[in-house]
Formats: sequence, structure tokens, C-alpha cells
Amino acid sequence: MTTLVIATRNKGKIAEIARILKFEKGDPLEVRSVAEFDIEDVEETGSTFEENALLKALTVARATGFPALADDSGLSVDALGGAPGIYSARYSGVHGDDGANIDKLLKELSNPSLDRAARFVAVIALAKPDGSHIMARGELLGRIAESKRGNNGFGYDPIFIPVGSKRTLGEYHPQEKDEISHRARALADIAPKVPGFLNNPSA
Ligand code: IMP
Repeated sequence: MTTLVIATRNKGKIAEIARILKFEKGDPLEVRSVAEFDIEDVEETGSTFEENALLKALTVARATGFPALADDSGLSVDALGGAPGIYSARYSGVHGDDGANIDKLLKELSNPSLDRAARFVAVIALAKPDGSHIMARGELLGRIAESKRGNNGFGYDPIFIPVGSKRTLGEYHPQEKDEISHRARALADIAPKVPGFLNNPSA
């Protein structure tokens, strides 16, 4: 039995990851949350999504002795030089205050001459205790709405309009978002590589 630790305490994310990674039959895999271990949260000190995802995966793999999968994600706005980027969760200064983060972003973009093109980015890293690792990046292109619309999702969803759509992600059904999201794309990219990576002792 191979154990894989998911380096998040968010149950929704764990369910999504387990669902998308759908392992082959006969390849038993036990997916566990980092919450089951007595480990402190990893501080995100990297300067890119890749660095932060890898830092989390490596730290949890070394601390638990099992392969670990971590993600790092955020919103990147072209006219703001990629901000809020890796600081998406704490853009307003308060960690996880979605309303304040959205208000700050809309204020930064209040000049009508500014381009509102943006993208959601997600990076998934899978690491073993020996330091070997693989990574994947997924992106969802779109633009920032003039104001909030819709109550679904989380974070910046109510002000993000995917390319080709008129609705914000806050107006998408959760399953509909799952089909196009940056996180789902990164997971779909890494999924076929996971069994080979986990089963190869020298990888
Ligand atoms: P984390 O990767 O869970 O730390 O998320 C970073 C932050 O990016 C979140 O707190 C949100 O503000 C934002 N974010 C990441 N993914 C999404 C998404 O799918 N919708 C809306 N906001 C997101």
C-alpha cells in the first residue's frame, strides 16, 4: 500500500485532488491529509508559485516520511504586473479576507484605461522524502469584472470572468468550474505521471 499525504487541511481540496487523481485499480493508494499528522503549517516564504508548492510538498514529505502533494495558487492581473500573485490570500493585509481582497483589487483597477486581463494560476508539486519531485502548472485565462457577481466559489471567483464567458466564476456551478479550473488543469496534467513517480524507487 502506497501512502500519499496531501499538504492541505482543506477537506474540499483533498476531495477534489483524490477525485481527479483517480488511481488505477490494483494500484492501492491511501490518501491522507496532513491534518492527521502532528506537523506545524509550512510558512510560504518562496517568491513564486512553484517555490511555495515545492517547499510545502518537500517539508511535509520529510516530516511524515511519505510522498506529499501540495498546491499553491492565486490570481495574477496583467496591468498590476502579476499582482496579487503569491500574495492573493492576503492582498488586503488580512489573510483570507475575500471581501477585503476583492475591494482592494477593484480599487487598484478603478482607472478605466487599465487592461483587466488576468489569470488564475495553480501549481501542484509532488515530492518524496529523498527530495525527488515532479510539478505541474495550470492556468485559467480571463478578465476582472467591474463589480462582484454570484455567490458560488471562494476567493476572487465573484470578480473573475473566464475567457469566452459572460458570467463570473461566482455564477458558475461548482462542477462547471471543476471542468475548467486552473487547479483541475494542473492536477489533470500531473495525474498520469503520479503512479510512475510513486512506484519508481530511484525517481
Ligand atoms: P491557496 O493556494 O489555497 O493559498 O490560495 C491562494 C489564494 O488565491 C486564495 O485564498 C484565493 O484568494 C486565491 N485563489 C486561488 N484559487 C482560487 C480560485 O479557484 N478562485 C478564487 N480565488 C482563488
